Amino acid sequence: MAHLVLLNDPGAQPVHCDLGDSVHEDSRRFIDDLEKWFGKDIIRIRSEEYANVDEVFEHKKYLSGMLGAPCTGAMKVVPRMNFQLPSDIHFWGYTSDKLDAKRFDRMVANHANLHQRAPLIEMGIKKRDTHEILKKNGIRRPFVYEIGMPNGNCLGCVKASSPNYWSLIRKWFPEVFKRRSEQCRRFGARLVIIGREKGPDGKTRNIRCFPDEIPGDWPTTMKGVNFGGCGFLCEMQEMIG
Ligand code: SF4
Repeated sequence: MAHLVLLNDPGAQPVHCDLGDSVHEDSRRFIDDLEKWFGKDIIRIRSEEYANVDEVFEHKKYLSGMLGAPCTGAMKVVPRMNFQLPSDIHFWGYTSDKLDAKRFDRMVANHANLHQRAPLIEMGIKKRDTHEILKKNGIRRPFVYEIGMPNGNCLGCVKASSPNYWSLIRKWFPEVFKRRSEQCRRFGARLVIIGREKGPDGKTRNIRCFPDEIPGDWPTTMKGVNFGGCGFLCEMQEMIG
């Protein structure tokens, strides 16, 4: 998205929310590569209070629930609010994939005071197209995509409720899985939706569990699972998975 915006307006300023080591190190390499490709500095904005999402969880003693996840507000919304000017036009990387387009709609509805655009939606560009554009321009996408992750979010994203996602995290990042599972137990957050059942009232409800209750042989495939990128709506976004 930034590449296309810069082609049209070289004066535009790319900005990145730096979440420190919450994300895979190769995702930070990716930002450095983009910077070289753009031929323009990407301004990194970060929280003045927290170095990573774990510090937020420990301080708030909360991971995720009905009110969403505290990490987005602390590490993305606050730094952005401190950085932005009322006159800014915000260009977001939402793609024209159905769920992503809906996220942009929610972003616009929830932040009516911002001037917002989503150039990839305007151009009908889907997520898979963006990967192709990167490839054609010799930019290696972040490693997490190569192992089947649906996005470059923080490892062990507390917004994720898919057992397949957590099974994949357990396989590739056992230390993150162990740490997040321990936090889930300590803060009482059953992040995973492992199935559905009919309650006594006849209504269907989710069966939730802790990540470390997922059977060891659970599949790690993420096809068809979509819990979105971590935009600025994480606090309000429903968890899909
Ligand atoms: S990607 Fe997940 S863990 Fe990271 S800030 Fe967003 S909601 Fe929090």
